[in-house]
Amino acid sequence: MTDHHIHLENRPYTLEALGEFCAAGAARGLEELWLLEHCYLFAEFLPMYEGLRAANPFIDGWLHKKGGTRSLKGYLSLAEQARNAALSLRLKFGLEICYFEGQEGFVRAQTGPLALDFLLGSVHFVGDFAFDHSAELWQGRDVDEIHRGFFKTSLALAGSGLFSGLAHPDSIKIFGHRPSFDPRPHYQALARALSRGGLYAEQNSGVFRRAGGELGLSPALLAALRAENVLVFLASDAHVPKDVGACFEALAGL
Ligand SMILES: [Zn+2]
Ligand SMILES: [Zn+2]
Repeated sequence: MTDHHIHLENRPYTLEALGEFCAAGAARGLEELWLLEHCYLFAEFLPMYEGLRAANPFIDGWLHKKGGTRSLKGYLSLAEQARNAALSLRLKFGLEICYFEGQEGFVRAQTGPLALDFLLGSVHFVGDFAFDHSAELWQGRDVDEIHRGFFKTSLALAGSGLFSGLAHPDSIKIFGHRPSFDPRPHYQALARALSRGGLYAEQNSGVFRRAGGELGLSPALLAALRAENVLVFLASDAHVPKDVGACFEALAGL
């Protein structure tokens, strides 16, 4: 079994740190780990956020703290070292890219030359709204409009030709908000677009571990993905070793 979504995030880019994640994965019976990092940790990707920062002081403040704090060279060098090291699990290295419509050329230019195994596309923002940061940020928002924006952005991501997979495809439900309309036509359109683009979709336990609620994908979305033969990959979204493979037994049974 493979965990397709693990962040080193706060650990140094060393084989020793990788070894801790491998040991945690092996203890849970995993054979392969897919490592990735948030692209905003690297200065090379910060130009992509400029419009967002100008429009939203909250995001500007957040990126002042988190943005560009790690070394892309260091990460790539670790991936290279890992390829030549005897680690207990198979490893792949990628990036988790925040997707913004209109930034496809920038992402292609930045990621094209990098020796990575995969690129995961994520919708973390609807317009300039950081919907997964805290429940308070939802106050006064039009829940239906946010959902429509989320589905529209997800569809564009799937059709962009940039990504190997789509992260946490219904993370918009993180704080329990549901649209008043039937989301199934959006699920079907997304599943078709993922299938056409050859992207996998994640069955990710991270949202559940952060905020509770429904574990993994909503049953209707999972059914739509299966009907379109989209590959569904298990993912923990671990940011520390102890979360590697978290909730996989339950996710695999859905
Ligand atoms: Zn994410
Ligand atoms: Zn992640």
